[in-house]
Amino acid sequence: MIKIFVAGLLLACAFASSAFAGDIEVTSLLETQGKADPALLIGMERTEKLDSQILAFYVKLPDREILFDTGLRGGNITKRLAEAGVNPEDVKTILLTHLHPDHFGGLVNSEGKAAFPNAEVYLGKVERDYWVDTLKNEKVIEALNLYKINLFEFGDEVFDGVKALDASGHTPGHTVFDITLGDEKLLIVGDIVHFIDVQLPAPDVSVKYDVDPDKARETRKAILDYAASSGAIIAGMHITPPGVIKVRKTATGYEKY
Ligand SMILES: [Zn+2]
Repeated sequence: MIKIFVAGLLLACAFASSAFAGDIEVTSLLETQGKADPALLIGMERTEKLDSQILAFYVKLPDREILFDTGLRGGNITKRLAEAGVNPEDVKTILLTHLHPDHFGGLVNSEGKAAFPNAEVYLGKVERDYWVDTLKNEKVIEALNLYKINLFEFGDEVFDGVKALDASGHTPGHTVFDITLGDEKLLIVGDIVHFIDVQLPAPDVSVKYDVDPDKARETRKAILDYAASSGAIIAGMHITPPGVIKVRKTATGYEKY
């Protein structure tokens, strides 16, 4: 069973299968919510503003607890964790989907120090090389220097039951984490979708944040196809709170249910 929590309260129990293999607990951590400019969309004209949010997720597996992404620098993820009874010192393992500031920024607190002093960070080698070696991004370098960094390749099983899938396009090393426990499957999909009201029914629409919009489009459809056919529960950093949904195919795209 996959249990979904917000601020320590059980919100929902779901459903990937009936076979019991222990529980996966997902705590949804809301960084911010607001409205976004529709001009961000590629491939669709729209005047109405878009609902926008930034989330991270704290996942408890039987043998390990993992923080997936960290929100913004000096932001609210540590407060959201505290509401769920998790102190910054308790966080031992952080997995990053990619190195945009709304995902890695929260590694650094408002004093410029490590927000999670006892944590090790895991991220894709391709993603690290792009931001550190190619772009020489100072904010990324500063944040990563505060931690022990462990690099994985696409296809690696980072931990037992936690596999790093190639979800490149949004960024070169953008990773989806495929968590399997018995018959239960949870996909941490990062930035596969930014605006589900638009991009589930019309998955060809990309956004201007995508480094490679064409590849991002193909990846979006491949991951959503996989989620729909496997019955996985998906958790996305820009999906409407709590950010955890299931999807199924429609004639032209996908819908949540
Ligand atoms: Zn993002």
